[in-house]
Amino acid sequence: MMKERGVMVVDLILIFVCPPPSSNRDMTVLRCLLHPIPSSFGKPLLTLTSSRSSLQSRINIALSSSCSSFSSNVSTHSSPFLSEIHDVLKGYLFGQKKVTEVAHLVWKLVVQKGDTVVDATCGNGNDTLALVKLVIDDSFKGCVYGMDVQEDAIKNTSCLLDQSLDPGQRECVKLFSVCHSKMANVLPTNVRLVAFNLGYLPGGDKGIITQSATTLLALEAAKELLLPGGVISIVAYVGHPGGREEYDIVQRFASKLPAERWACSHIEMLNKPMAPVLILLFKR
Ligand code: SAH
Repeated sequence: MMKERGVMVVDLILIFVCPPPSSNRDMTVLRCLLHPIPSSFGKPLLTLTSSRSSLQSRINIALSSSCSSFSSNVSTHSSPFLSEIHDVLKGYLFGQKKVTEVAHLVWKLVVQKGDTVVDATCGNGNDTLALVKLVIDDSFKGCVYGMDVQEDAIKNTSCLLDQSLDPGQRECVKLFSVCHSKMANVLPTNVRLVAFNLGYLPGGDKGIITQSATTLLALEAAKELLLPGGVISIVAYVGHPGGREEYDIVQRFASKLPAERWACSHIEMLNKPMAPVLILLFKR
């Protein structure tokens, strides 16, 4: 079992939720794939093809067995958190929760109060706000950096934060109207998490969209700024023009990271090919 921060749960799910039902009856309700990106060729892939009821019982067993086995910072989390892990993973596997909710869950596993984290695509600020709630503590330690190329996005994010946060918390957020490929110019180096939610601003100009070339430069920069035990979280959208190419480029970037220093995986629904994909790059 891996002990790095945040890797544990993916590992546990791979270990415990694997056997598909032997009968073909009731299958195909759900098809979902959780497997490492090819940096670890030769490692087993997990494909779940299961009826809802059998999968539910397997996840229940997995999570109750796992409570006693958690040995990283996960063990410090309370049972409401374990129940949240259960709900989000089960919801995703049953097609009832979005991959962005899985991303938020992973962030929660990786970051701690007082950490420095980055939203590399602020948009309307929902992810920025979620990050503030995870890292800013009562004494206002912790820092969230947000960036976006669109002034409108920075305004929307700023407005959401002003409405939702105390002045002390709000001061812990720094927003930059800058391309994420330039993040090294505005960020410190001790970053626990860099989150990308690619594509265009929901409700905004669909012509302003993340581009493969700058996304790649941003990933290179994020890789250097990240602390060991940190994660780069990328939600990629394949349904719009250029989205599939951008996803392929992110996958290729991830595949080349050395497996001794990085654990890279992606989570996607196989029978919803246009659904967004979550790519996770854990720095060991
Ligand atoms: N996380 C957001 C949604 C992000 S949408 C939320 O929770 O609401 C994607 C955002 O990426 C858009 O706002 C778009 O302007 C921004 N973007 C596009 N290219 C960018 C770049 N090169 N650098 C930073 N942001 C970029």
